[in-house]
Amino acid sequence: MNVLVVGGAGYIGSHAVAMLHAAGHKVVVYDNLSRGHAAAVPDATLVRGDLKDQDLVERTLTDHGIEVVMHFAAFAEVGESVRDPAVYYQNNVVAALSLLEAMRKTDVKKFIFSSTTATYGAPETIPIAETTPQNPINPYGFTKLVIERALADYANAYGFAYAALRYFNAAGASPSGKIGEHHDPESHLIPIVLQVALGQREHITVFGKDYPTADGTCIRDYIHVDDLASAHMAAVEKLQPGKGIQVNLGTGRGTSVREIIDACREVTGHPIPTVIGERRPGDPPELVADARLAKELLGWEARYTDFRDIVSTAWKWHQSHPHGYDS
Ligand code: UDP
Repeated sequence: MNVLVVGGAGYIGSHAVAMLHAAGHKVVVYDNLSRGHAAAVPDATLVRGDLKDQDLVERTLTDHGIEVVMHFAAFAEVGESVRDPAVYYQNNVVAALSLLEAMRKTDVKKFIFSSTTATYGAPETIPIAETTPQNPINPYGFTKLVIERALADYANAYGFAYAALRYFNAAGASPSGKIGEHHDPESHLIPIVLQVALGQREHITVFGKDYPTADGTCIRDYIHVDDLASAHMAAVEKLQPGKGIQVNLGTGRGTSVREIIDACREVTGHPIPTVIGERRPGDPPELVADARLAKELLGWEARYTDFRDIVSTAWKWHQSHPHGYDS
């Protein structure tokens, strides 16, 4: 298959690119490298361009005979989306709609969308099934929901075939140790904790320990980035014109912030000092997937079921690339 991976130079996109390559597909990465890294996609054809450049996107689709598009090129920081919603609406909505328009014009109608658990907001019932009402509580989640709704309409009216994959907490790195997570600035829990182990930070601040959970810290469903990538491969096989698939991608298991820090101590052998801080605004206490539908519809489930193994792959990457792709 000829696959266009938009945002393929980013964290999750680059792992999908590597997996598509390994499976023998022809991969073209479209990325403006605003947050991605060319070094993350050493083997792919890289078209450096902006998603809002509809002419360039159209040319890329036709020149490479693209059959399916995977769209990873969104901003994904909740806090940033609250502080600066305009860039989220521009990048996650306007640019995504421009991509869909380029696809419509060139008659490329297979689309895999990186959606998110943030579209559910702060649901009371855990685990979260796909039937949970989608009531996002921040601009990030809302921008993703807008595109999910647009896709349903595009499938209905124009015959698009799509999957909206609602990621829980992406974590870990390729076991090859060659690609991994590199955000600047970093805001995610596991890489920050590992930066403490590397001596790049003094301590990890735990955002609140008075949540209504067993140890008082927030619970998330951490899913290995290669498991996310393999779900994309499975989803492509199930696409049907005029239809959409909406599924959670999680492990179905919840892990607290404290458990993650303990796992990082175990894996790295570093004491990892912690400081208890304030709650981070917009953080729901617990987000864990009901992961059954993805298994039923895609025949897919997460292979990394122990969060310690996820942390180990992340550590391998951080140790060999202490400054990410700038190492
Ligand atoms: N977290 C924390 N300290 C940090 C970064 C994150 O305690 O320096 C917590 C955060 O409050 C959340 C969990 O770790 O409960 C995962 O946060 P992350 O930003 O990695 O992912 P999110 O759940 O926001 O997508």
